[in-house]
Amino acid sequence: MLITHGTLITMDPERPLVSDGALRIAGDRITDIGASAELTARYPSDEVLDAGGMLVMPGFICAHTHFYGALSRGIPPRGIEPPADLRAKLENLWWRLDKALRPEDIRSSVEVCLVDAVRHGTTTLFDHHASPKFIDGILDLIAETTSRAGVRVCLCYEVSDRDGPEAAAAGIRENARFIRQCQTNPSPLLAGMMGLHASFTLSDKTLHEAVETARGLDAGCHIHVAEGKVDVSETLRRTSKRVVERLHAAGVLGPKTIAAHCVHIDDFEVDILRETRTMVAHNPRSNMNNAVGTTRVPRLRRAGVVVGLGNDGFSNNMLAEMQAAFLVHKLAALDPRVMPAEEVLDIAVTGGRTIAGAYFSTPLGILRPGAGADIILVEYHPRTPLTADNYAWHLIFGQDDIRVHTTIAGGRVLMRAGELLTLDEERITAQARERAAKLWARY
Ligand SMILES: [Zn+2]
Repeated sequence: MLITHGTLITMDPERPLVSDGALRIAGDRITDIGASAELTARYPSDEVLDAGGMLVMPGFICAHTHFYGALSRGIPPRGIEPPADLRAKLENLWWRLDKALRPEDIRSSVEVCLVDAVRHGTTTLFDHHASPKFIDGILDLIAETTSRAGVRVCLCYEVSDRDGPEAAAAGIRENARFIRQCQTNPSPLLAGMMGLHASFTLSDKTLHEAVETARGLDAGCHIHVAEGKVDVSETLRRTSKRVVERLHAAGVLGPKTIAAHCVHIDDFEVDILRETRTMVAHNPRSNMNNAVGTTRVPRLRRAGVVVGLGNDGFSNNMLAEMQAAFLVHKLAALDPRVMPAEEVLDIAVTGGRTIAGAYFSTPLGILRPGAGADIILVEYHPRTPLTADNYAWHLIFGQDDIRVHTTIAGGRVLMRAGELLTLDEERITAQARERAAKLWARY
C-alpha cells in the first residue's frame, strides 16, 4: 500500500519533513519513502491511500499505563475526607478497585483504553496491570484483547507484598509465564516484562525472587520509582537506602528496566540511573493530578538518561501528555526556557522509540524503510507556516485543532477516516458503562 500526498513528519533526523511525501508499506514494515510523484511512478499497481495533505507521523508510544483503571472515571470516593496524599489515594481508590476487578471488567477496561488509543494514534503501550483476585493467566486475557485490536503492547503484572505472599508469588509466576510465552511463541505485537509495584510495597525477599526470575528470562522490570514521598520515607525507614539505591542493590535496574516517575530522586540516584542505563517513563498529568511533584526531566536528560512519556492511566492522547510536559516544567522551574517543544517531542518519540526498542524487534517511532508500519494520518490545517524547524511547536500548541484520521499498526489499518475497524466502539461503550456500575457497587 502507498500513502501519498502527505506532509511526512518522519522523526528521522536525516530527513525530518517531506512535503507532498509518500511512503510504501509491505507487510508490517515501511519499505520506501520519498516524494509522492516518485513513489507513485515506482509502484503503479499498489493500492493508494491519498493523505490529501494531512500530516503523516509514526504512531505514538506510551511508556507507562494502566489499562485496568479505565472504569474508574467519575467513581464515587470512599472515606469521609478526600485523599491527601499518594498513599491515601492508593488505599482509598486503586487498591480497592484492583481487588474488585473481575476478568470481564478487565477486558472491558482494556477495550475502553484501546478505543481511546487507536482514536488518538497511540499504537504501542507499556501496560502495568493489577487484579489481585485474578492473577493466573490474566495477561493472556489482556494480550488476546489487544492483539485482536491490533496494537502493540508490552504487558506485566504488578508484583507487590500488599496482597500477601501468595499474590506476590502468583504475580511473579504470571510474569514469568507470559514472558516465556512471548519468547517461545513470538508475536510482533506482544512483549512481557517483570512488573513490580514500588519499593515501599515490596519486601527484600519478593524483590529478590522477582529479579532472579526476570534475569533468568532476560527481561527487565517495570516499576514505579519514588513517585510519592511515601516511597522514599518507607524505603529509608526499612532499608536505610534511598529508592533508586535500594533497587540498584537488589538488581532491579538495567538497560531493559522502566522506572516510572522518578519524582523524588537526588543527584546520586540520577547517576545510578545513568550508570545502569535504566529508562525512565515520565507521566506529567498523573504527577500533577496526584500532586506528587515534578520529575527533574531536564536533569535526567542532561545526565544522558533515556526518558520516554507515559500517561499512567490518563487518556491515551499522547499529544495532551506532551502539552502537559511542555507546561509543567516551565511552571515548576519558573523559567519559560525549560522544556521547549522540540525537547518534549524528542522525549515522547525518540525516548519512546528507545524504550520500545528494548522489547520489540521492529523499529518503532520513526518513518523510514525497515521501520514498523505504525503510522498515523493527522488532520491539521495550520494557519501559520509549518516547517522542518517548527512542527514540534505546531503539535504542542495546535493539538486542539488536530484530529487523528487514520491509524495503522503493523501494516494493518485500525482506524480509517475516524472509523474503527477492529473495535466495536458502541458495544464497548455500552458494556463498559454496565460493568463500571457493578464494579463501583462492589469496590
Ligand atoms: Zn503507574
